Amino acid sequence: MSSVEKKQLIYEKSAPGRRGYSLPDTERTADAILGDIPEKFRRTDDARLPEVTEGQVMRHFVGLSVKNHHIDKDFYPLGSCTMKYNPKVNDVAANLPGFRALHPLAPDDSVQGVLQIMFELKTYLKEVSGFEAMSLQPVAGAHGEFAGLLIMQAYHRKMGELNRTRIIIPNSAHGTNPASVAALGWSTVQIECNEEGVITPEAVEAVMDDTVAGMMTTNPNTLGLFEKHCKEIADIVHKGGGLMYMDGANLNANMGIFRPADIGFDIMHFNLHKTFSTPHGGGGPGAGAVGVTAELEKFLPAPVLKKNDQDEFFFDYDRPDSIGRLHSFYGNVGNMIRAFAYIKSLGGEGLRAVSENAVLNANYLKELIREDYDLPYEAHCMHEFVISGSRQKKLGVKTLDISKRLLDFGMHSPTNYFPLIVPEAMMIEPTETESRETLERFAAIMKQIAAECESDPELVKSAPHDTPVRRLDEVGAARTLDIQYTD
Ligand SMILES: *Cc1c(COP(=O)(O)O)cnc(C)c1O
Repeated sequence: MSSVEKKQLIYEKSAPGRRGYSLPDTERTADAILGDIPEKFRRTDDARLPEVTEGQVMRHFVGLSVKNHHIDKDFYPLGSCTMKYNPKVNDVAANLPGFRALHPLAPDDSVQGVLQIMFELKTYLKEVSGFEAMSLQPVAGAHGEFAGLLIMQAYHRKMGELNRTRIIIPNSAHGTNPASVAALGWSTVQIECNEEGVITPEAVEAVMDDTVAGMMTTNPNTLGLFEKHCKEIADIVHKGGGLMYMDGANLNANMGIFRPADIGFDIMHFNLHKTFSTPHGGGGPGAGAVGVTAELEKFLPAPVLKKNDQDEFFFDYDRPDSIGRLHSFYGNVGNMIRAFAYIKSLGGEGLRAVSENAVLNANYLKELIREDYDLPYEAHCMHEFVISGSRQKKLGVKTLDISKRLLDFGMHSPTNYFPLIVPEAMMIEPTETESRETLERFAAIMKQIAAECESDPELVKSAPHDTPVRRLDEVGAARTLDIQYTD
């Protein structure tokens, strides 16, 4: 790429002497301030920064933001990720100066307000999930899984059962589940779901033995189906001496309807950044709260936030059985404030309505497009569903091509090629925040693309046509990474 092209791509707008700021005069001169900095740390020449006006900076970033896809722009049905619209008022709450300016090392008695919010959030999450104890410390879903598995390990060690180092995982599992197991140095025992897309007690029974530490499963599973045998399965695992872990990254179908702890799960993580209103398109920061039964409470990450007899909140560090600390300070407090504001503004009935509408939207969309694509599992879905592009593949069009074509219509793609058990999978999660009109518009586009696959497959295979950049060389981008600002 020539440097001229590159400059156009990075929107070089700098010109010497342009300014986007003005600073008030200070009493101290620049030389006096410089004098405080040891000679060896001082720059010898000016930093190469763009010189631009405030207006140019504004247009630059707004321009970039509309070149990309995001939930504030249009539909984002990325299954398993719950890319719902997050009310901006929750961001406003997290950004209140009293929260934003808190110092993480402030003594407990000087930050009672935020501790109260964290404490109450734990109470609400307990209510939603049925668990009796909670930690807000982990900062991602996968981090929550790791915390939960460490708790499981600590439990077995306490019981003297050091031989339990295997975790049963269904073949529909999210990739982070086996990865978390591996991070612990444990191994997985994979079981298959049946022709209805759910796991059976028989499959679990067949692999349960005294080397199994427990089972990890997602409910609804990643096919968007409710695991209806969970209670029976939990009984089998418990009888065999194991614990049940629920991947609760996505509670969008469950709130106010199904509480994992009530049917035998012992540990679960939440993704506050999926279900509870932290935007998460850009990769963080997240919050992966972990809930456990009363029996496992003593193993929670330290410190544990508590309330004393005088109704004061404090961090308890005296936790001899704890798995220890997993993150600096108390996790990502901003996400906790957003989740708190979200739950407070919706209330219990509102959360239930979220789940009901998420399920309704997914089923409605599924019915709208089921004739045009293959539907591997017939059952009613929960908050998401999976279709297959196998029919289109026979015409030479891959699922990836269909996803790229969606970009021409200003829509984000569904999750592709996951779950792994469905060939040419497209995993679609509309979420509760989309209107009927948006769902119908998306369905009409999906129908049009299915028709194009028959009438003009090249059009789909060469998509996108109307985006700021055409199809990217993703492998090349990863292999010959170029992150330099200039040549
Ligand atoms: C998103 C997700 C995770 C992982 O969450 P991260 O915050 O990305 O680590 C785990 N399990 C399921 C089912 C998920 O959808």
